[in-house]
Amino acid sequence: MKKIVVLTGAGMSAESGIRTFRDSNGLWEEFDVMEVASIEGWYKNPGLMLRFYNERRKQILACEPNMGHLLLARLETNFEVHIITQNIDNLHERAGSTNVLHLHGELIKARSSVDPLLIYTIGNKEIQLGEKCEKGSQLRPFIVWFGEEVPAMEAAIQTVESADILCIIGTSLNVYPAAGLLHYAPYGSPVWLIDPNPPSGLSKSIHVIAKGAGEGVEEFIERVRTEKMRRNDGDGETDICMEFGKINP
Ligand code: NAD
Repeated sequence: MKKIVVLTGAGMSAESGIRTFRDSNGLWEEFDVMEVASIEGWYKNPGLMLRFYNERRKQILACEPNMGHLLLARLETNFEVHIITQNIDNLHERAGSTNVLHLHGELIKARSSVDPLLIYTIGNKEIQLGEKCEKGSQLRPFIVWFGEEVPAMEAAIQTVESADILCIIGTSLNVYPAAGLLHYAPYGSPVWLIDPNPPSGLSKSIHVIAKGAGEGVEEFIERVRTEKMRRNDGDGETDICMEFGKINP
């Protein structure tokens, strides 16, 4: 099977009712990013951080996957689909995607504040001040904050490097190192981008679908299905897309 790698950001979940960070009405308008999304914020006021993420966890669990998430999950019938997401929600998994790499962590998990490898699935439970890991340190959200390493980056790079098609959905490509993944797409592999307000300064070789995630993924799949897409790997061109029937969410 050919490999489609999908890089998603906050816009992927916007139609599920989860606010992005940078759009108007985005979360940053209400909260100071350094207070709630940086390691300094955690050292300064862990109680505020815990309340912020306890609230986010409740919100995401009340939301449902949208048509974009569902279509990407169905695409696994015809392709090896790898989702690399900057999102901390679990909507890709709940839509049925089986291969999801979270770059920035997951809200349904907690981790030790001294040992990053001690990770606990907590589902919808809150994390309280005073709750400790088995090594006796405060539990914290399993989130990669500004000022911290992105441990999944190496695996993400390897995945992108072997993509037959890369599709980027709903990210302003402002947050590094995630935004740099785009540059690891193999030479000759088509790159698509779905976003109603695409970031400026994109390479002309990127195919842009200026639509929201639901409609955009539908159009992307339709074009993959009907346009004879080819990958030029330097030694010549190969077909990427086999014939397959229409995919419904
Ligand atoms: P961002 O807020 O910087 O950018 C969001 C992008 O989504 C914008 O380019 C916007 O035009 C686009 N967008 C808006 N509505 C859309 C729609 N309906 N369909 C498709 N695209 C749409 O988000 P980012 O680049 O992901 O970076 C912000 C950071 O904050 C990331 O780490 C992200 O994971 C995190 N975050 C996560 C969630 C979540 O887990 N759902 C929500 C907010 C922020």
